[in-house]
Amino acid sequence: MFSALDESGVLCVLYRRSIKEIERLKTDSFFYCPTCKEKVQLRLSKNRAPHFAHVPKSSCSYKGESFRHQKGKLLLFEWLDRQQLKPELEYFLPDINQRPDVYVEWKTYKFALEFQCSVISPSEVTRRTRHYLDAGIVPLWIVSEDKIKGRPPLLSFSEFLRSFIYCFDDHLHFYSFSPETKQFSILDIRQSLSPRKLLVRRRSELLETISFPDIFRVNVASVKWEWWERNVYRYRTTPHLRPSRAERKFLQFLYVHRIQSSLLPSICFLPLRSQPLYDQPAYQWQARVIISHFNSVDKGEKVRMPSLPVADVLGKKKMDLMEEYLEELAYLGYVEKKGKDWYKKREVVFSKNIEHALRQDNQLMIQLKKRDHKS
Ligand SMILES: [Zn+2]
Repeated sequence: MFSALDESGVLCVLYRRSIKEIERLKTDSFFYCPTCKEKVQLRLSKNRAPHFAHVPKSSCSYKGESFRHQKGKLLLFEWLDRQQLKPELEYFLPDINQRPDVYVEWKTYKFALEFQCSVISPSEVTRRTRHYLDAGIVPLWIVSEDKIKGRPPLLSFSEFLRSFIYCFDDHLHFYSFSPETKQFSILDIRQSLSPRKLLVRRRSELLETISFPDIFRVNVASVKWEWWERNVYRYRTTPHLRPSRAERKFLQFLYVHRIQSSLLPSICFLPLRSQPLYDQPAYQWQARVIISHFNSVDKGEKVRMPSLPVADVLGKKKMDLMEEYLEELAYLGYVEKKGKDWYKKREVVFSKNIEHALRQDNQLMIQLKKRDHKS
């Protein structure tokens, strides 16, 4: 960290001080961590910027900050500073005992930039996000690029990444940054292929060529239908050799209803906008509601589907995945909305063989692709 409290409780910031000045501070004063109040050491070395370090046995969350983290937050700070936004490095917020890497105000908003270099639990992200929001500050989580596995457009998806997804104007994305290449990336999410695989479009720019307002510019990334078809094809034709517990439960459910997983109707695989925020594969919950809630009612009758709320990292906007699904089913002519309720319009056709199922997938793909092109 680049700041600590001195003996009289005044914050001492190392950034922009001369080496001479820092050497003097090192011999003359004692310093304390603003968060845990423990004594910290001022360190001067050849290959790192001067910084404060906790003692090895400390349990403070600011202990053992990596070189990448230090470099990254300094670069982000300088980037905002060049734009005359008057950012603050490691700005201490005593009310919520948080110290964002960089704090900045823009228009009427307050932001806390957090450059995330270590894997932390989704509950920790939620907890800290809540603290910031309660204080009227919007946290901007920026994931260190080395924590993102896979190569765009295909990334391996994890609970860790899912906890950093933002939804602006019904569009999902997350941010990453590499202090080594100085590239800032906005990863627009197209669709999730599974809870472990994510299809994205990466917009990368050097920090010096991008402005702070640029990162809020929404740029819709549409579904890649060829990937969708290939993925469904793989599901239908590849045996599930080592099914997970959830998958085993799902196969049991299908077995009870005498349905083969390879012959599920195409509408059990619909890629929905908010699906990446949900940790269950689309086909599992969609097949369940089609079989349990849709097939059990007659044409013209009311369809009752359970709501499926999901939320982005800020958690302000609640989205209902089921409502998105019903809207898609309405577009495809299976249901219609009257007032607030949904009514069944058409039966779902279950294929008798793989060939028929694959043909159904292809037809559905053509129909939905056409709509994407129109809009
Ligand atoms: Zn501390």
